[in-house]
Amino acid sequence: MGSLSGKNAVVTGSTSGIGLAYARAFAAAGANVVINGFGSPEDIEKERAKIESDFGVKAVYSPADMTKPVEIAGMIALGEKSFGSVDILVNNAGIQFVSPIEEFPIEKWDQIIAINLSSAFHAIRAAIPGMKKKGWGRIINTASAHSLVASPFKSAYVSAKHGIAGLTKTVALEVATNKITCNCISPGYVWTPLVEKQIPDTMKARNLTRDQVINDVLLDAQPTKEFVTSEQVAALALFLCGDDAAQITGTNLSIDGGWTAE
Ligand code: NAD
Repeated sequence: MGSLSGKNAVVTGSTSGIGLAYARAFAAAGANVVINGFGSPEDIEKERAKIESDFGVKAVYSPADMTKPVEIAGMIALGEKSFGSVDILVNNAGIQFVSPIEEFPIEKWDQIIAINLSSAFHAIRAAIPGMKKKGWGRIINTASAHSLVASPFKSAYVSAKHGIAGLTKTVALEVATNKITCNCISPGYVWTPLVEKQIPDTMKARNLTRDQVINDVLLDAQPTKEFVTSEQVAALALFLCGDDAAQITGTNLSIDGGWTAE
């Protein structure tokens, strides 16, 4: 029996990167999972089936678009209908866009605020009634080192992540007596498609080569000079789901190789 046997989790943005690592870590601990995110239908089905066959749990896929409140509520409803409850909610879907503010496309600002911040509000709003009814819940939001400090050219992302940190504290206080915790995890740079995709724009915005971006911009921020791994982030989330973490709520947990200690 895994530590999460009998629990059911929804992880947004889990077709890739950190989200996929969360989903697999929860499934390895015995939880059923709703996975979500974009990608080719074949790849997503392969990932979903592999979670079931690797860990002997149930996995369902929600195609909900995190810019659409009705679809987000539908994703929580799918979890409740498929498994009977949503006990663990991880708000993780996120995108990045790098540009000087005066050229920052307005629709990119709106999209980042919707996916990286508002989607967490909509999912939490939909999941809390079921968690209150069961008298147990874990809400984990993937924030970022950018919820604590800023970098130039990431106005929308930094604003959304600071917002997530505030939302986390507010929700934690509202449900503090319901045995529901709400925390955020703030990784530094994790080598995922999200980081890889921002390299060309950062090269352009800062007039640097690819190697310079990796070593002088990304890893420069991290005193350890190493990327965080998705599996390390997922292990922290797994700890937050356990009984030992019952009194950890409203916090912002850094996992950033020392970035925000500077
Ligand atoms: P990723 O690009 O590998 O994964 C992002 C996921 O979000 C994918 O599954 C994608 O399909 C999904 N997604 C994007 N738009 C969506 C939408 N509209 N609706 C539903 N799903 C959508 O990125 P990642 O690095 O794994 O990032 C995951 C989270 O971690 C993000 O919130 C990101 O801001 C945060 N984060 C990442 C890093 C890093 O260095 N990689 C650092 C700190 C925080």
